[in-house]
Amino acid sequence: MTSDPQILFIDHTGELAGGQLCLADIAIRLRDQCQVFLFQSGPFQELLEKNGVVVALPNRESGTLSVRKKSRWFAYLGSIPVLISLVFNLVRVAKGFDLLYANTAKALMVSVPVALLLRKPLLFHLHDIIGAQHFNRINSWLLLTGANLASGIIANSEASASAYRRAGGNNRNLKVVPNGFSVERFQADVTELSEVLRKSFGDEDRALVGLFGRIAVWKGQKVLVEALAQLPQVNGIIVGEALFTDEDQQYKNEVLALAEKLGVSNRLRFTGFQADVLPHLEAVDVVVHCSISPEPFGRVIVEAQLAGKPVIATKGGGPSEIIEDRVTGILVSPNNAGELASAIKELLEDRKWAEELAVNGRQAAVLRFGLESVLKEWIAFIYRNVPTATKFRSVAASETELQTSSTAPALDSSTRSTRKG
Ligand code: UDP
Repeated sequence: MTSDPQILFIDHTGELAGGQLCLADIAIRLRDQCQVFLFQSGPFQELLEKNGVVVALPNRESGTLSVRKKSRWFAYLGSIPVLISLVFNLVRVAKGFDLLYANTAKALMVSVPVALLLRKPLLFHLHDIIGAQHFNRINSWLLLTGANLASGIIANSEASASAYRRAGGNNRNLKVVPNGFSVERFQADVTELSEVLRKSFGDEDRALVGLFGRIAVWKGQKVLVEALAQLPQVNGIIVGEALFTDEDQQYKNEVLALAEKLGVSNRLRFTGFQADVLPHLEAVDVVVHCSISPEPFGRVIVEAQLAGKPVIATKGGGPSEIIEDRVTGILVSPNNAGELASAIKELLEDRKWAEELAVNGRQAAVLRFGLESVLKEWIAFIYRNVPTATKFRSVAASETELQTSSTAPALDSSTRSTRKG
């Protein structure tokens, strides 16, 4: 038996969005003492396994908990069998762990009954801003109730934490921990690849702006299209894919149609999902972020800063915590293509100032979001929430370990493979 507490992370999706990339960092760091239970397989599972993290899946792919913002009451009823099946599956896996950690709202819905049944502490990572723009009333209520029952909450920004409080959240054990980033990763030399990319987009000499992130209505890709229509000398790339819902896919089609209608399709490229965004970040002159609803954190903004690019982002939520307006980037009003176009123009016309913003942004990002310091804070919070008996066992075992210098694998080897049942 290892000395360290055993942690089971739980996430509803196998896709790779910000919340999953954030979890991957801690799961990889704690891989000898954790597993990740996913409701579905996908690229997230591949990323974890490639990095030595054990992934557990339900016996049968259980389908999704398909409640969305626009779901009606019957969708919730229809989800009950899926929920029950996931609870049974999670109980089976969770027994051997000291602490459960739900990384998404849907994961929380399944984890709460399991934590209560097994009497295990449950932490919840709040990656969302609870409010009408992101959740319907039933979903907000479910999320709040679950979060209030958790032993503790990590919120990804002050904005997410205050929205939780405003909505009636009363869990006092709440800590804000931002996402962390490997600074070295964004220092890698990808010049050759980014030059090839830039050439492949055509009109190399024209300015190029990039919007990074999954395609979804609230991410506001249409705002960039409208801004480009006002900037005939500027090209754009949209890096990311419609990952989650049919609505996302439909929105992508609408963005394409709008680009056609406004005559910018020949200046706008869709690159699809990129496993490594750095070469694309490197290839652009300016990074824009266009979310029309408050962004809970906004990883893409920090990544752009670390890559040394000037960033324009939408005011509100995480971006207003990350960017000091006109010092480390520019903040513009949401859903305002005119303001976005002016900010792009300003940066392209004053390259010296753009470079200053980029340098300031990079310095601020390195100071505040370095992976090591974020992981330290995050792991300390997790450990504080491990039951005393486990802590005691942990200390006792580590003392024994010091004496014998022996180490043992985190879990029985029979469990160290992906469980498909
Ligand atoms: N991302 C990626 N490939 C893409 C587009 C985006 O890996 O093609 C990553 C991006 O680098 C960032 C994350 O997806 O780390 C998006 O996180 P963010 O917080 O910006 O948005 P979220 O998906 O959480 O709403």
